[in-house]
Amino acid sequence: MPNKELINKLAKLAVLVGANVQKGQEVVIRTTTETKELAREIAEEAYLAGARKVNVQWSDDYVSKSSLKHMTVSDLESISPWLIDQYHEYVNAGACFISITSPIPGLNGDVDPIKAQKSGIALNKAVGFFREHLMGNKAQWTIVAAPNAVWAKQVFPKLSEEDAVEALWNAIFDASRVTLENNPIKDWEEHNAVLLKHNKVLNNYNFKHLHFKNNLGTDLIVELVKDHVWAGGGEHATNGAYFNPNIPTEETFTMPYKWGTRGKVFATKPLNYQGKLIDNFWLEFKDGKVVDYDAKQEKSALDNLLDTDEGSRYIGEIALISHVSPISNTNILFLNTLFDENASCHMALGRAYPMNVKNGVNTPISELEKIGYNNSLVHSDFMFGSEDMEITGLTHDGKEIKVFEKGNFVI
Ligand code: ZN
Ligand code: ZN
Repeated sequence: MPNKELINKLAKLAVLVGANVQKGQEVVIRTTTETKELAREIAEEAYLAGARKVNVQWSDDYVSKSSLKHMTVSDLESISPWLIDQYHEYVNAGACFISITSPIPGLNGDVDPIKAQKSGIALNKAVGFFREHLMGNKAQWTIVAAPNAVWAKQVFPKLSEEDAVEALWNAIFDASRVTLENNPIKDWEEHNAVLLKHNKVLNNYNFKHLHFKNNLGTDLIVELVKDHVWAGGGEHATNGAYFNPNIPTEETFTMPYKWGTRGKVFATKPLNYQGKLIDNFWLEFKDGKVVDYDAKQEKSALDNLLDTDEGSRYIGEIALISHVSPISNTNILFLNTLFDENASCHMALGRAYPMNVKNGVNTPISELEKIGYNNSLVHSDFMFGSEDMEITGLTHDGKEIKVFEKGNFVI
């Protein structure tokens, strides 16, 4: 049995530090039927923090899979107006959003990928306004995780189901800086201060590009967009509330210049995309675009990701994470980006975050696109950091600065 006290601490962390629920605010919890223990605690803690109303949007991955298998493409593509209205209502109410993720890796392995892709695109289009609302930080939002039996057994195959679930709970608590002894709220204040320092130093250098190199064969130049902003840790929503979008988070990240990535990058962890594990893959970029690639496992899922739209062949995020961090120290492959991306340097295929460029959240996306913002229906992070990663930054006046040596920050 997972420790009740730790679940409560994680719930408090999600409410007070993650979303920073304001007095009188409406809260939306978005999750699956796998996470009811944590969802109930979060709902209770949100009310205790002063929430006016807590809504829970439940989904179930097995029902979703049945729908994907049996419904026609045109039925999947027709999104009910009430579903769209629901998002409009939340946005208009100024609600904040708490997602509890509990992925079931590989569940959709036998689902027709084209159908899954078409259904995903239709939903993304229908609630595009909501995605922009969150990506533009118009309200606080956060993501935390809870285990499920299938996920836990994949992470800990040698343990019994019950032990695996408990082990995954413990790994999630550790990675989220929640222990029996500590005050997670205070620890997160200190952690945010460290991330803020990284952001500040990188912003001061204002690099033209970063050059990544390791022995696996990664040799990649990523140009950064003009007036880029390094962010990570806490952020301010446009309503003024300070919140943490991801629990856990270890990254400091910014916006690449859409047409300025060149060279080859090798992934160092599998990418879980639409229920499939793409593994042992590399991508080659020219003028920002993926021009060649291969994957030893689930290449067709990578084909689908890259072929989603024009922007899915360009990157929208570059993130730096020291190889030594609480998450990579666990040495556990979580098979989930929320954790694995915080163990390793990563980049995202697809759309960028407007906040990663000066004044970005107040500028229409169509204007941002002209200066090198990448727009896409997808944002898929994959990991390429390693213990021997070297990163060199080039300043606008031609100075080369060592940013990473042997996988860790040296600035
Ligand atoms: Zn990231
Ligand atoms: Zn990302």
